[in-house]
Amino acid sequence: MFNLDSLVRPNIRAMKPYSSARDEFQGEARVMLDANENSLGSAGPDSFNRYPDPHQRAVKAALASLKGVSPDQLFLGNGSDEAIDLLVRLTCVPGQDSLLILPPTYGMYEVAANLNDVGIERVPLTADFKVSPQAVAQILASSAKLVWLCSPNNPTGNLLHAAAMEQILRGFRGLVVVDEAYADFAAAPSWTTRLAEFPNLVVLQTFSKAWGLAGLRLGMAFAAPDIIAYLNKIKPPYNVSEATQQHALAALADAPRFEQMRRELLTGRAWLAERLPALPIVEHVFPSDANFLLVRFHPDATAVYEYLLDKGIVVRNRTTQPGCAGTLRLTVGTATENELLLAALREYQPG
Ligand SMILES: *Cc1c(COP(=O)(O)O)cnc(C)c1O
Repeated sequence: MFNLDSLVRPNIRAMKPYSSARDEFQGEARVMLDANENSLGSAGPDSFNRYPDPHQRAVKAALASLKGVSPDQLFLGNGSDEAIDLLVRLTCVPGQDSLLILPPTYGMYEVAANLNDVGIERVPLTADFKVSPQAVAQILASSAKLVWLCSPNNPTGNLLHAAAMEQILRGFRGLVVVDEAYADFAAAPSWTTRLAEFPNLVVLQTFSKAWGLAGLRLGMAFAAPDIIAYLNKIKPPYNVSEATQQHALAALADAPRFEQMRRELLTGRAWLAERLPALPIVEHVFPSDANFLLVRFHPDATAVYEYLLDKGIVVRNRTTQPGCAGTLRLTVGTATENELLLAALREYQPG
């Protein structure tokens, strides 16, 4: 039932990818005069005069072994945002095709659709941010080219139910993209463990959250090798810089620090989730499998938002998002930051 080639845009199926100098010659030569690089060196303190590996082999080898996948099931991009854009461009003909989102969810899916002149079908989550049976039916009946399932979802923080996701994976004709930016904070196995079962599954993860490398810009997509090959075909040849590749390798070799930060953030989340409900202005703290909490305030969340800003504390105002009236999204910070946030909220006087 799922046929990748029929899902891919005809112009992309037909096109020949750019063949870079580093595609045609790999390895160390005595004299490298093929890529119009500067053999003399680099301005600035570090040497970056050579183009990076367009296939990021070293990073992929380290990641593949960490994640238990094969390197040909792995795509690396300039943030997950690059993978999001490439997935839209791979499948959706501008002005003709559409994609599915389940609001409230991450804003970049909609931006990528708008940027590429691709239609958006909205299938809202329920009031407690679940995928209803009717939503599943609507998705299965749709002819959209891809559906975005953000789990744990941003801005709501919850995991989507695996049973509903599995129904979608089995019955939807297009690509099913599971965005797991927050998977490291979740009490559930990653969908990367089920790649072999679903030829239409793409899992997105990122170095921006639990790895603490948002400034680096490195995102991952996991999928069957034929999907990954298509993403590689259409990506900019040198989309992940040499600095990023070197730094990612160093980070992957520092797993204890990753684990320590992950635990500390989970402790901070539990600390806040335990104390916030006692505040009179807090109406509800939504359960979270991410490094943030969505909190409903009353009587006026935006007034709380502005009060916090005034105290130099920036949180995310989500009051205008569908189903999120009265909510602010609070990222878990250091223990000190969490205490400052809680103390400020305690002192808040409505009106
Ligand atoms: C933060 C986030 C990302 C990360 O994007 P990058 O481009 O990798 O920084 C992706 N998806 C969701 C849902 C996010 O919240």
